[in-house]
Amino acid sequence: MAGEPQADCLFCKIVTGDIPATIVRETETTVAFRDINPQAPTHVLVIPKVHYPDARTLAEQAPELCADLLREAGAVAAEDKVDDTGYRIVFNTGSGAGQTVWHAHAHVLGGRGFNWPPG
Ligand code: IMP
Repeated sequence: MAGEPQADCLFCKIVTGDIPATIVRETETTVAFRDINPQAPTHVLVIPKVHYPDARTLAEQAPELCADLLREAGAVAAEDKVDDTGYRIVFNTGSGAGQTVWHAHAHVLGGRGFNWPPG
């Protein structure tokens, strides 16, 4: 259920510290950590501490938390010094779009060039 911690959720376990992660930033409401399979020199995932299954649910049920995620994405880019050259924020939403972990997360990608349209 949205908002409730999920016992079988990988990212809930990163929030609680039960699964280790390279955490780069933490706020009252969010955690940012390096992706285990980076697709760019900067590849950080920003997640809400509270469980929502995807970006749409997060935006509909907790819009202020959604704004926290976007603010943190910008802070991560600034800390990794990729904000001047540009960076990409990606929310894969649904399995057809590549979502594999059902805890809302923003990918922050930077430090290389990007194509449009994305693959
Ligand atoms: P999605 O495919 O958009 O759902 O993104 C999930 C991301 O989580 C992928 O980029 C994975 O590489 C990443 N990931 C999976 N397990 C871990 C982990 O334990 N630590 C950090 N990143 C992970």
